[in-house]
Amino acid sequence: MSRFWSQVVNDLTPYVPGEQPKIANLIKLNTNENPYPPSPKVLAAVQAELDGDAARLRLYPDPNSDLLKAAVARLHGVSAQQVFVGNGSDEVLAHIFMALLKHEAPILFPDITYSFYPVYCGLYGVDYQTVPLAEDFSLDPAGYVGKANGGIIFPNPNAPTGRLLAVDAIEQIAKANPDSVVVVDEAYVDFGGESAIKLVDRYDNLLVVHTLSKSRSLAGLRVGFAVGHPALIEGLERVKNSFNSYPLDRLAIVGAVAAMEDTAHFEQCCQAVIATRDTLSADLAKLDFEVLPSAANFIFARHPQRDAAELATALRERSIIVRHFKLPRIDQFLRITVGTDAECRALVDGLREILG
Ligand code: PMP
Repeated sequence: MSRFWSQVVNDLTPYVPGEQPKIANLIKLNTNENPYPPSPKVLAAVQAELDGDAARLRLYPDPNSDLLKAAVARLHGVSAQQVFVGNGSDEVLAHIFMALLKHEAPILFPDITYSFYPVYCGLYGVDYQTVPLAEDFSLDPAGYVGKANGGIIFPNPNAPTGRLLAVDAIEQIAKANPDSVVVVDEAYVDFGGESAIKLVDRYDNLLVVHTLSKSRSLAGLRVGFAVGHPALIEGLERVKNSFNSYPLDRLAIVGAVAAMEDTAHFEQCCQAVIATRDTLSADLAKLDFEVLPSAANFIFARHPQRDAAELATALRERSIIVRHFKLPRIDQFLRITVGTDAECRALVDGLREILG
């Protein structure tokens, strides 16, 4: 095909999401979902929305998701004007790339990071430069100081390494880049990190992104949010209103509010995941894996003698799926989502058998 539009299509590099297999009975440790169900209050709230007046689904939802913004504001001690909500944090990030990260200078992110960032850059015409992680895969804030840039973004804990950056290092980055938007993607922060949301009142260039997909067990409901200065939020609202005026449906809004209000359930699930993560890290170390310290609900580990792709295939033959990235520097690692204790025991037994 030589037509102009076919070249346009060829130039669009899509994100390739982790596999969502159609077969049942797999031990699914590949896309960092929570192994525990969401709060029962979520299910009750969704049911009530349907029971109350089923005809309500006929009507558009609140375009501003005010109830949800109020719930986020209450939980994080900010005002509703400091909150933007979207259909999963991927959509929130898409809006950030479209609205706030287009400047003369390239944006900066780590060379090992969430693989969606370079894809967004390609799709939205945002230039970028990567900043290498240190030898031990930690993020050195010095790499983000004194470099002209059009914005900065990194996950904390980082993905797929799981390594955590302290909040004072984030403050250092925000302080050193007052003219750039600094985005901290805290998808996994509830599994042992400290949120940078506490800094947003002091740094008007700081935007912190959260998801309900991981610590609130709601990947299927698609809810994420950003917290930052009202002017940044206003920028995101402008893009959102021209893209999809009703991003969150009625069920997502009431379900997400109920999830955010059930602190006991949230804490219990996070603690269970953290405890299993620690046991799994120790068990993998006993099998000679090198395990990076993780503050997330996944583990990043490599075996010094065995090829990671082959290990992933051998696990799959035993109906266990984990994530392997064919990328420079990390292609000998496996990223393993922390499942239930029983799932992690099955994984360790499978690996023991494969390693012989
Ligand atoms: N940020 C990071 C670092 C992630 O790993 C993910 C999950 N793939 C997301 C954001 C997006 O999560 P969601 O769209 O489910 O909120």
